[in-house]
Parts: sequence; C-alpha cells; structure tokens
Amino acid sequence: AIMVAGSVGALSEIWGELQRASGATERLVELLGSDDTVADPAAGAELPQGGRGPISFDNVHFHYPSRPETAALEGVSFTIQPGETVALVGPSGAGKSTVFQLLLRFYDPESGRITLDGTGLPEMARHTFREAMALVPQDPVIFAASARDNIRFGRLDATDAEVEAAARAAAAHEFISALPKGYDTYVGERGMMLSGGQKQRIAIARAILRDAPILLLDEATSALDAESERAVQEAVTRMSETRTTLIVAHRLATVKQADRILVFEDGRIVAEGTHDSLVAEGGLYARLARLQFTSGLAAE
Ligand code: ADP
Ligand code: MG
Repeated sequence: AIMVAGSVGALSEIWGELQRASGATERLVELLGSDDTVADPAAGAELPQGGRGPISFDNVHFHYPSRPETAALEGVSFTIQPGETVALVGPSGAGKSTVFQLLLRFYDPESGRITLDGTGLPEMARHTFREAMALVPQDPVIFAASARDNIRFGRLDATDAEVEAAARAAAAHEFISALPKGYDTYVGERGMMLSGGQKQRIAIARAILRDAPILLLDEATSALDAESERAVQEAVTRMSETRTTLIVAHRLATVKQADRILVFEDGRIVAEGTHDSLVAEGGLYARLARLQFTSGLAAE
C-alpha cells in the first residue's frame, strides 16, 4: 500500500504541474520551454486530415520580437509529404529550431504562410494542431518522479504495460531495468541522474505513448557514447516509419536515414536533396558531412 501511495503521489505531483499548465497543448510549451506570443482563436477550423496531410512553409519571413535586427528565417519554403522523414541540418543559429517554434505556433511569421493539412495555422485553435505533434526537445525535461511516471507523462492514462512497450520501442527498457528499482527508480532532481542519451530516450518513449502523426525531434548535440547513439537512432528510425518526421539532425547517421535533407544557413534553405546528391554538389553539406556533423560547426 505504501508503494502504491508513493507512486500515486509522484504522479499526482506531475498532475499538479500539468493542471497548472492546463492540458496537452501547454505541456508542449512547457517541454519546449517557450511562451506563447500569439492570440489563439477560441474556435477554429478542424485539421482536415488529423495531421496526416502535408506540412508546408511558403516564403516565411520571421524575426524574434526581442531581436528585430536579425532575421531568423528569410523566405523559407518547403513542403513535407505525409510519412516523409526530413532532416534539417546546418550551422548553429541557421534557423532550424525556429522552424519548430513556428510550426507549433509559438510565434507567427511576419509574412508567408504555414499550413498543415492545407489549413493555415492561425485558422485553427492551437490545441487542434499541437495535439497532432509530438516534440522531442534537445534537452528534455525530466521530472522528479519515477522513470515510469516520467514516460507516462506522454499519456497519463497509459497502463504500465503500455509504458513498458513504449520504453522498449524507444530503446530505454534496458537501461531503466538496470536502475536500482527499475521503473520505480526515482529520477530527475534529487534522484538518479540520467545521461543526455537516456533523457532523450525517455522523451522518445513519451512521444511514442502520445502516438501523434507528426514527430518533431531536435536531436541532442552533446556527445553520446556509441551505444546510446545507436539505441537512439534505432528508436527514431522505428518511430519515423509510420509518421511524418522532422529531425533537426546533428549526427551523420540520422541525416543519412532521412528521405530528404534541407540545408539551412543564415535563415535560408541553401540546398536540398539526399545525402548522396548533396555530397556530390560539394558546398556546405559536403563540408558538414566530412566533419561528421560533430565539429563546432554544428554544435549549439
Ligand atoms: P538553430 O536551431 O539552427 O541553431 P535557431 O533557429 O535557434 O538556430 O536560431 C536562428 C536565429 O534566431 C539565431 O540568430 C538565433 O540567435 C536567433 N534566436 C533563436 N531563438 C531565439 C529567441 N528565443 N530569441 C531571440 N533570438 C533567437
Ligand atoms: Mg537549434
């Protein structure tokens, strides 16, 4: 009974945080560590295909309000087809994470249009499209709670079996099982410290539980050991098979797996193609690939 009370206690702590943040929409905000700056229509259009249609940026220009002198995106256009896996690569500050910020509508562009399922984001209530997206941030938030509850955060009514299945799919089951109390091990603040790769696998397991049709992944830049890197890679590959996936990628292994690569530099897309076609072109991508994307060029 004490064990049960303990675990319910930890979960209700998360529940408290969630309720303060009011629902799945704001959970994403919290996970991204951003604030909303745009008005949300009280009622709006539905997502015609539930997020299983194309994602499109059309000539998007954007400055962060706090930095009016620097363009974060300058005329960015692309369309991502349902089910595609697209890697966003380029030097630090090129605008890759900003694409996610705008796609989740933390900001509106000054000009240009962003659509999902052919519908402009401002025409829909925010929760409508945010519920279609699962975000794995670069440095995921780990709560002071059990490993199990940290994963359950992806969907609060998930059973223990579902949590474990998600952990297996995220290549997190093995390291969690090896913790002193397995899934009941307290992690996060004043608990077991997790490595960057372990945190990302917890976040991937959360995203798997959420089961959203669109996966947004900002890959960890910190050096992972080879085993963690392979495990994360496998988890992402498996997840992206059935979803539309955008990955801000820092590792050559991830980039090579993508159906298509968008190369960002100074707020613009400067090249686009497959790994082989971009290497053949020479240019920025070929230089990044030669450095395995791991040098200071791609670091953030
Ligand atoms: P990347 O993810 O490719 O490293 P970002 O999209 O984070 O690049 O950044 C693009 C540009 O916007 C950079 O000049 C960066 O300094 C700036 N920027 C990013 N986030 C913010 C922010 N919250 N406020 C102000 N400027 C920002
Ligand atoms: Mg970034």
